[in-house]
Amino acid sequence: MRIAVGQMWQETNTFNRNPTSLDDFENWGVAVGSEVVEQYGQTGELGGFLDACGKWNPAIEFLGLARFACWPWGAVDGNAWEQIQSRVRRQLEAALPVDAVFLALHGAMSADGENDLTGALLEIVRNSVGPDVPIVGTLDLHANITDRMLQNADLLVGYHACPHLDSFETGQRAAAGLRKMLEENVRPVTYSRKLPMITAAENHNTFTGIPAPLYRRLEELERDADVLSAGLYMAMPWFDVPNLGWTVTLTTTGKKTRWKTDVNQLADECWNLRADMENVERYQPRDAVDRALAHGGHPVVIGDGADATNSGSPGDQVHLLKEFLARDHIPHGALTFLVDPEAVNVARQAGVGQTFQAAVGGGFAPEYCEPIEFRGTVERLLDVDFVLDGHIGKNMPIHMGKGAVVTSGNVAVLFVEKTGPGSTPSLYETGGLDPRTFGIVVAKSPSGFRAEYEPFAAEILSADCPGCASANWPRLNFFRVNRPLWPLNQIESPTEAKWCGGVRVD
Ligand SMILES: [Zn+2]
Repeated sequence: MRIAVGQMWQETNTFNRNPTSLDDFENWGVAVGSEVVEQYGQTGELGGFLDACGKWNPAIEFLGLARFACWPWGAVDGNAWEQIQSRVRRQLEAALPVDAVFLALHGAMSADGENDLTGALLEIVRNSVGPDVPIVGTLDLHANITDRMLQNADLLVGYHACPHLDSFETGQRAAAGLRKMLEENVRPVTYSRKLPMITAAENHNTFTGIPAPLYRRLEELERDADVLSAGLYMAMPWFDVPNLGWTVTLTTTGKKTRWKTDVNQLADECWNLRADMENVERYQPRDAVDRALAHGGHPVVIGDGADATNSGSPGDQVHLLKEFLARDHIPHGALTFLVDPEAVNVARQAGVGQTFQAAVGGGFAPEYCEPIEFRGTVERLLDVDFVLDGHIGKNMPIHMGKGAVVTSGNVAVLFVEKTGPGSTPSLYETGGLDPRTFGIVVAKSPSGFRAEYEPFAAEILSADCPGCASANWPRLNFFRVNRPLWPLNQIESPTEAKWCGGVRVD
């Protein structure tokens, strides 16, 4: 049996106006043909899928298509999208005939002039393989599900965990679904319902947060032999495209008649949670730092969700850094990072032990912050490369370019050339900085950082700063989304949003 495998993964923040280029994908590692399995066969969803299929008998022959992955950022530019399409198409045509196709996808990815790259890629693959070859994909829990995705894929399997600790297991679940399709000759039927709502990511925790019971329900549904996949996609909210909203999905063998009722029940429960989901305690930068200083223990970790690199914000905002520098003394010091290639360059020019002086911050999203003057000492120069395990990544190679650690008094800043996970202590550790020893630490992440910081944080606070991933919705200029969309519009019932429709069957 021959299965073609590939990956297209990025989360697009349409409020970050800096495009994602082919260079960005190449920085994160483009792989073509056999390189896909050789280089990324142990990584994330692809790793989980290959691990599960690797145990099948007779052995499967895997045919690598292409792997284009890079960290969340602005919309993909036309050239990069053209390259992704042509590489996948060419490799797939060379691989045919195949018995199935597996794609590791994100589900909230757009390009210049194309709002739904995920659906578009699935359509390209469907047109190549024809109607009868199963196409299976994995998605982030923040995917924005579209009709085009549902029409072209047989089975989509999303993360059930936020923080996203189940990328590998999601690949395994996709393999189990495919196996059922192949062995039992199942043509899956997917029931889905779109909801006209987006919500703040701070409350997306599926372990202890408000939506946790809904995810336990999905797990229960997947224990039914007739269910191939149950999904609740909370939608990347900083994704200004038509049809943005939460989606409930249930992919089944079609044998029972109650699936429509199950989807409606789940969707209604989601809708009823919307006000609670939006209830987040956030502090203005000054208040957040005051609160952190008033706390007896350390470190106090401040989540800056508005500049979350994990949500596609550029990681260039200095609202909290400015507050740190304004304080006479921060016991144990403060630690943050900034995506600022100019500052890295200045530090490298100066050299270790030398004085650093530059205006820093706001290099990518100047509409949300003014640069600030920063004077300090260059402590260390490095390549910011590490392997991400935990939230979002499993065995995921991270390349954030050159970096520099610069200190000013007891404030330490890790400057990096390129974006990357703002949720993990590993980023600071790569720079020789141990966040456990600091008084205040900034994580540029709304909620995923809790997975790794909670075990040692004295307290965790959420900041309310401006930025491309702010949950202060009126600050953002949504103009492509379908309306009404809660909470941009105050609606009482999802039926007021005619664009959503009821349960869809594919
Ligand atoms: Zn996500």
